[in-house]
Amino acid sequence: MAEGGRMQRIPPHTAYVGQACFKCHKSVEESASLKTCTSCRRVRYCSVQCQKDDWKAHKAFCKALRLVESDPATYDTLSRFVLNYAEHHPYHADRVNKLGEGMGVNEANLLIRRLGRPMTTVERNVVGWQARCMTCARTDSLIRMEAARNNSDITPLSSCSDCHLSFYCKPEHWQDAQRIHADEPSEDGHHTLTQCAIQRQMRLDQLFRRSIEEIPEGPSTFQWAPDRQKDQWTSLADANWESEFGVVLSESLQLDTPEAVASSRSLGPMLHCASDGLSMPMTILYGLENLNSDDTWTTKATLTIHVLGPAVEPELMKAQLFEEIMHQLPKVQTLQIIFCGPDIPPNSENWMEMETCPRCRRAGRKRRQRLYSRTYHEYALRLGSAYEVPDLAVAFNSGCSQEARDSWVGTIKHLVQRKVPTIFTAFNREEGEAEGKLFANAGATLVPALGPRKNP
Ligand SMILES: [Zn+2]
Ligand SMILES: [Zn+2]
Ligand SMILES: [Zn+2]
Ligand SMILES: [Zn+2]
Ligand SMILES: [Zn+2]
Repeated sequence: MAEGGRMQRIPPHTAYVGQACFKCHKSVEESASLKTCTSCRRVRYCSVQCQKDDWKAHKAFCKALRLVESDPATYDTLSRFVLNYAEHHPYHADRVNKLGEGMGVNEANLLIRRLGRPMTTVERNVVGWQARCMTCARTDSLIRMEAARNNSDITPLSSCSDCHLSFYCKPEHWQDAQRIHADEPSEDGHHTLTQCAIQRQMRLDQLFRRSIEEIPEGPSTFQWAPDRQKDQWTSLADANWESEFGVVLSESLQLDTPEAVASSRSLGPMLHCASDGLSMPMTILYGLENLNSDDTWTTKATLTIHVLGPAVEPELMKAQLFEEIMHQLPKVQTLQIIFCGPDIPPNSENWMEMETCPRCRRAGRKRRQRLYSRTYHEYALRLGSAYEVPDLAVAFNSGCSQEARDSWVGTIKHLVQRKVPTIFTAFNREEGEAEGKLFANAGATLVPALGPRKNP
């Protein structure tokens, strides 16, 4: 725990590339004069006070960075990973990323040897997320080493003038990279946005997250679900975050007031942060809609959802976020959620009545949940004939094709045998496809609308 009883916060991505204070995370937008630590030249601070406050945590690593950079052998180790521009046609981002990774691993090993201990997460990020040329993988540190060897001037990396989160060491190295960066839609799941656009949004999201962190005694993460109730269920087929939540979020946070406008609390970043939590209830609704052939599920008196696996944070299980399911389904009287996973702390296993919003309470609607600290198939086995197939079983980013495979095999077998309507989400396309295969091999019928495909 840090001062004020708050958890030590990990600096945001922007802080590792000199775009935010390493201590208080204030970004260049908020504090024009970030000063570089003159000893290691790797981190920046908005004020002498912030540097002082961070010194205890930074001191040993700062010294290790300085010593490693000034050791001539370091240049020989790391310069092997710089891509020769002449061999760089056509431009290949993956290759540069691989080289950058290799350079990072070697630099980390040198630092660990100097430190005489493993690096912390933050220290690993300082190395792994540092700015590097998009074309040749050079870092500022390597550029300084080169200049020292050649007795020449230092020309630090320049950044994209739009997002300031992508870098190049000389103008020629920006020409091809710029096309990839700013013209082509990115391939990492956000097919419609360029890397530059995604990184500009990241900056806005970061500004917003910081404005939340600054509220004394406020929540450390932003959680929001609307109070509004829909009059009737409407299909999610053509829905998107803006259409579902844009107007209510904007109204509930009074984003049109002059104060809000002045404090740069724009809707986009808030919606991004809200979508972190809301994607759970929305994924459940989307799964129910696509696994049912008609709308009778929307008018059931009791709807039962089983949430499988460890990926749901305890604080989210407490959250009001699941009430959004009730607010989208006004005919449902009771929502029952069972959380089941080996990482859930042992619990009473009785139904817990959860607090609902005043309007649901007045209407006598109920939200109840139950926690089981075991795998799903163990849970089903224990209930025996009392086990009832839920309206939906869902696992969020289970990683079932990667980790704890054996225990998931038992769960998947149960889900298939009992024909449980099921939806699994994954971190990325590869995992999603691997999980699709696991299910297909177990004899499941895959519903084309649910993929494996991008979760809308
Ligand atoms: Zn600061
Ligand atoms: Zn330093
Ligand atoms: Zn370069
Ligand atoms: Zn850019
Ligand atoms: Zn409610």
